[in-house]
Amino acid sequence: MHPLITTLRFLLLSLPLLAHAGLPQSSNVPGGVVVLQLGSTSAIADKPQAWFEDRPVLVTADEGQWVAVAGLPLDSIPVMHELKVQLGHESVLLPFDIRPKAYPEQYVTLKDTSKVELSPADLARAEREIAAITELKQHWRDAPDTDLDFIQPAKGELGGRFGARRFFNGQMRKPHSGLDVRAGSGKPVVASAAGVVLAVDEYFFNGKTVFVDHGNGLITLYCHLKRFDVKVGQTVRKGQRVGLVGQTGRASGPHLHWSVVLNGAMVDPELFIAAPQVNDGKAAIRSSVRGEPVEP
Ligand SMILES: [Zn+2]
Repeated sequence: MHPLITTLRFLLLSLPLLAHAGLPQSSNVPGGVVVLQLGSTSAIADKPQAWFEDRPVLVTADEGQWVAVAGLPLDSIPVMHELKVQLGHESVLLPFDIRPKAYPEQYVTLKDTSKVELSPADLARAEREIAAITELKQHWRDAPDTDLDFIQPAKGELGGRFGARRFFNGQMRKPHSGLDVRAGSGKPVVASAAGVVLAVDEYFFNGKTVFVDHGNGLITLYCHLKRFDVKVGQTVRKGQRVGLVGQTGRASGPHLHWSVVLNGAMVDPELFIAAPQVNDGKAAIRSSVRGEPVEP
């Protein structure tokens, strides 16, 4: 057996990787992120390449180790999966399991029923936009490195959590694809990390939205904005304002909906922030249970 393969098998026994500063928390569930060690940077000179379900996966160096950071789609089947890894001339399959997770249910009442039962024209618009957004989520830009140590993009209590199975006016809709932060209309929304503005547009469900591309398949979305402060192609610093909190699109009140996309998969943004900037922990738990305001 090739020594590299032996090393990889040995490393697998130590999964999941403990939390490291700068890396997201490893959570091998649908909608989670799996962090897998690929070997030491001193032993493997060239950055390895990795693929999950034929999509390229982010690889970075952390504390002398190459690590793959893969997003796991919410509809992943909880069985053994594998990451394809290229280490120089060596091609290796790295198995890992995805465990089931039961996300909570959320019930939301919207007075504006036109955002729940769509007219034929709105339905056609929403379908076009979903196709455009799906394409943006697949965007890949090679970058020398990617900052994975995110800051919460708006200050406020956390509201609707990622993955919640949602019912609008009693009707089941898609699970919540991001994290809601309660903040007043007009409060600043900042970039979670440095990147390039990939898209700026207004959508039926997401409202005014900014996409920031952080490189290597990591993209963040800031939705329901009142105003845009950036343009497509603009470089943004971590913490730079991209817009203002609003309630455009399907929203029952002003708040920020923040989504994180990794290798095309919407994943839980809370895995990327060390400590959520919550003003009052008890209030955050209450608002999470109540589950308002929320949207797509
Ligand atoms: Zn939301």
